[in-house]
Amino acid sequence: MERRSFIGLSALGTGALFAGSCRTSESKELQKETKAVLKLSSQEGVALGETLNEKLDFLEANGFTGLEPGGRGLADRINEFQDALRNRSIQISAIVAGFDGYLIAQDSSIRQQAMDSMKQILEAAGALGSTGLIMVPAFNHQTSLPHHESRAILIEQLHELGEFALKHNTRILLEPLNRREAYFLRLLADAAAMAKDSGSDGVGVMGDFWHMTWEETSDMGAIISAGKYLQHMHIASRERRKMPGEDANDNYLDGFKALKYIDYQNYISLECGSDGERTETIPAAVKLIKEQWELA
Ligand code: MG
Repeated sequence: MERRSFIGLSALGTGALFAGSCRTSESKELQKETKAVLKLSSQEGVALGETLNEKLDFLEANGFTGLEPGGRGLADRINEFQDALRNRSIQISAIVAGFDGYLIAQDSSIRQQAMDSMKQILEAAGALGSTGLIMVPAFNHQTSLPHHESRAILIEQLHELGEFALKHNTRILLEPLNRREAYFLRLLADAAAMAKDSGSDGVGVMGDFWHMTWEETSDMGAIISAGKYLQHMHIASRERRKMPGEDANDNYLDGFKALKYIDYQNYISLECGSDGERTETIPAAVKLIKEQWELA
């Protein structure tokens, strides 16, 4: 039973909580009712290919519809992306980091640097029709304000960034990490509470299955808690952050069930390495994700 025996039993159907062999009519009913769609994305650096066009060709051939570039220098790449994406089925999904400074720094000039550079990236993200800019408030090695002060100041900053993002038709997205990297924000529910407290519809959150392996007591609980604030997902193998399927028993069913339950409309994006040849491991990961999405 372990951690999958959990809440939402009545809504999801008890049988739906167990993979494959004992699915029930309740799970079929859920599948029918959900408005969720599976939209696969890959970080630019993860896709196979030397040039942007080679990467897009590879992704398109493997059923991806999203590309997640880094935020560094994004303003200078708007034309490059617009040209490369013309007449393709791929769009820009989220933008990952690439800003200077960090938002909960002890030093106010570092906080300002973060605000200014995030706004620059948000403008470019909006021009590219992106879901949002992924942001971590601070990593463990970055000297930050005490927690309660950090949270209060972050909420104010989030409001400002969220309203700015809205004007540019995009969002700022909080990413919880695992405790070894960023103790300040580890749980999807906490990120969603911050988004809620910001009072801006331009603030969202994202989930990363690999970090969630170490921090969340339940993928399902985490995703349902994030609910309407959840605007992006990262995926990797559960133990070593390789391609989904490269670790034994890689399982995303609980999370996928929850994504279906909340009618998730955004991307699931590869953020991982690979021990194998990506010509093989990426198509294998796509197959595994599609199979588990169907089962969920
Ligand atoms: Mg991530």
